[in-house]
Amino acid sequence: SEKTLVVGRFAPSPTGPLHIGSLVAAVGSYCLARRDGGRWLVRMEDLDAPRVVPGAAEDILRTLEAFGLCWDGAVLWQSRRTAVYEEALEALKAKGLVFDCACSRREILASAPHVGEEGGIYPGTCREGLPRGRRPRALRLRVPATTLCFNDGVSGLQEQHLSTAVGDFILRRADGLFAYQLAVVVDDHACGVNQVVRGADLLGSTPRQIYLHECLGHAPPLYYHLPLALGEDGEKISKRHGPVSIGCGEKPAPLLCRVLEFLGQQVPPDLAQESPGVVLEWAVRHFDPALIPVAPGFFAPERRDG
Ligand code: GLU
Repeated sequence: SEKTLVVGRFAPSPTGPLHIGSLVAAVGSYCLARRDGGRWLVRMEDLDAPRVVPGAAEDILRTLEAFGLCWDGAVLWQSRRTAVYEEALEALKAKGLVFDCACSRREILASAPHVGEEGGIYPGTCREGLPRGRRPRALRLRVPATTLCFNDGVSGLQEQHLSTAVGDFILRRADGLFAYQLAVVVDDHACGVNQVVRGADLLGSTPRQIYLHECLGHAPPLYYHLPLALGEDGEKISKRHGPVSIGCGEKPAPLLCRVLEFLGQQVPPDLAQESPGVVLEWAVRHFDPALIPVAPGFFAPERRDG
């Protein structure tokens, strides 16, 4: 029997230059796709126009190239795919899974029974129809009172009770923009992605995405959630800690080696002296997902000689 080709992807949001946290996701997804001779795609998650920083997308792509992280095919730009998201929304509507919601964030927080993954859990105000005199703002997906389970390639068995942990969630926001959850699911499926490797900060979004895949009749991908990289202040590394600096800072090859070490891989000491291409070749051949730690870790500061 023929083995299914692995299709992985890296999906950065162009809200700033690549930082260490996103480089970890890029390297992890690259190695786990390429080690099986699979494809590795890049998708630019530039859907949330107000948060997009001009030039950041181009900067991220140039940085990936400098690290030797070459992707297959053309970059997919979410901002150009509104019609495809619209189609998915229509399919969900046809199944009776979508409802108009008039509630503002403040109203939800005021009446939410408890706090879930992302603030207040939607209390169901508009679930059975808009209250009289209210105008529709957002569109939400009806979520069942069931527990969704999946097996994460790093963290093992995960479960989330959809209605109490997240509730009916937004598919199209009040400002008309499609929600991240819908776009990711539609795009991963459209591109044949069957392996999603990303930061553990998205672990709590995964059951919603698997549920959406099911609603749309897709087989969901396999997931690997990589440990979060912490800065020296113990906080999750973000843009605040500064971008991945090449040219003015560290060279790509030693930094790639430190990312691989962060991911638990046993990197030969001399590898950092090689080119980024040689480091990645080694990584693709030797990458072992069983070695990836589950717990967040400090990202080791630059190694100094002598
Ligand atoms: N764009 C998301 C981020 O940068 C990642 C989405 C994903 O990998 O599913 O956090």
